[in-house]
Order: sequence, then C-alpha cells, then structure tokens
Amino acid sequence: MKTKTYRQILAAMLALVCLFGLAACGSKAEAPAAAAPAASEAPAAAEAPAAAEAVDPDVQAIIDRGVLRVGVKNAVIGFGFQDTITGEYSGMEIDIANALAAQLGVDVEFTTVTAATRTELLDSGDIDCVLATFTITEERKQSWDFTTPYYTDHVTVLVEDASGIKSLADLKDKLVGVSSGSTSARALTSAMIEAGVIDGAAFDKDTFDPATWKEGIAFQQFDDYPGISTALAAGQVDAFSVDKSILAVYKTEGRSYIEEQFAPQEYGIATKKDSGFSTYCEAFIQAKLADGTIAGFIADYNLG
Ligand code: GLU
Repeated sequence: MKTKTYRQILAAMLALVCLFGLAACGSKAEAPAAAAPAASEAPAAAEAPAAAEAVDPDVQAIIDRGVLRVGVKNAVIGFGFQDTITGEYSGMEIDIANALAAQLGVDVEFTTVTAATRTELLDSGDIDCVLATFTITEERKQSWDFTTPYYTDHVTVLVEDASGIKSLADLKDKLVGVSSGSTSARALTSAMIEAGVIDGAAFDKDTFDPATWKEGIAFQQFDDYPGISTALAAGQVDAFSVDKSILAVYKTEGRSYIEEQFAPQEYGIATKKDSGFSTYCEAFIQAKLADGTIAGFIADYNLG
C-alpha cells in the first residue's frame, strides 16, 4: 500500500511535469531529476530547461524593442507590393515577415528597399533583415547570412514588341538596362556565352563589371526599376533584364519576354553576418518550409 501510494505520487508528479510542457519529459538524462520525490525541488527542475533555451542577445534585442524591422520591395507583385493609396504592403515576403514577427511576439515595421539600398540598410542596422527578392550567391554569403531559400525565380529579358527582339541571339550588340546591385547583367552575359551568342574568352564571373563589359552586349545601370521601364519606352535601352517576378509589373501592352529564361535565383532571408538572429531566421524558415506554410504562401499568390 505504501509503495503504491509512492508510485501514485510519482506518477502524478510526472504527469504534472509533462503538463507544464517540460522538454525534459521523456528524456533519459533528465528522468531521475524529474522523479525526485521532494515537492520543494519541483521549481528548480522547472527552471533548468528555460536556462537551456536562453534567448540569443541579438534576438532578445528585437524582442525588447518590440518591433521587427524588415526591408521589403514595394513593386514586386506577389512578393512585396505597396498599395499607393492605403500604404499597405502585400505579398509572400510580407506574409513571411509577419509570421516571423508573430513568432517573436513583436510588431513589424516595413522599409522599402531596392537592390542598391538593401545591404547598406542591413549593415547600418536600420533593418534587422531583408526579405526582398534577394538572391543567395556565394559572393554575397561572404558579407551577409542567408537562410535556406523560400522561393526560386529565373532571370529573363523584357523588350518592346516593336523592337523585333525575341531571343538571346537577337540581343547581340544591344544595350540592356539593369539595376545596380543586382545579379542580372552577369546572369545575362553568362547565358549569352552559354548559348554561343557571344565570345566568353574575356568573361570572369568573379571580376565581371556591367559598367565596363562591351563584348557583344552592353549594360546601363539604374538605381531602380521604374527608371529602366521609362528608358525602355523611350528607346534609350533596347531591353530590360532582371528576375521574372520583378519584370511582371512592367510587362504592359506591347511588351514581351524573350523566349529564354535562365540563371535560377534563390531568394533567402538576409541578416547580418554571424548574428544570432541569422540562426533564428534559419530555424524559422526551415520550420515554415517543413509545415507547408511557405507552399501555402506560394499558392496564395499564384507563384507556383
Ligand atoms: N534578385 C536579384 C538580385 O538579388 C535581382 C535584383 C533585385 O532583387 O532587385 O540581384
């Protein structure tokens, strides 16, 4: 009878421990501590897992501030798009940012960034992360941390139908508008070399500079995309190249994509190099990929 009572107490205590959601429940290493009979030891046992899950200082700083500051695009439909009347942002990158802020238990604040400004805003600490069609590259990984990709796009080229340009071959010796700070010029040059349209002898992907490249294609760099679209309409450039997702809003009546798309662009959340928040974002995106949340966003915005 005595033994039975003791077992009952033990069982009740274990049940309580499980009820409070202790990670230790079921762990072999922690079992003896959880089974300790003295009721007064329970609070000490409960504190141990909390200490083990100590929040990284970089993450804690965001929690203490109460606001997650995110750099997003404002004209990429389905990714980061700002309604000019209401000021509201929408798109899968906005939804990812909102989910990240919700998990942190903080508000979210969006800052519009461009390909040219997103890294300096991250470096200066004005924003905590970038969710802005930011392609993961080996070169960029030297300077910033990126999560596992949440979406993969491709580069293509937008032209005026009247130009008669329909393919990479037709772009030989043309002037192409690209955004500064983007992967586009290198991707297009590389695709034209691979297609045998231009000679690649002088091409070195590590030292490639759109401003000086003149072998069979030339580039004009712009601060942002509306400027390239205007230059295309005015005939100041022959074509406009960037990721298809970004081009979509500029594909108006009388404009088409060339036949080819190339250079997969994997988008990841970018954070400061070696920051504790990088680790947090990686775990977050892994979980959202695994539980179907990201696939749901892709479906919501018809990006599949
Ligand atoms: N995704 C490409 C890049 O990261 C295009 C530029 C942009 O995102 O605006 O370079």
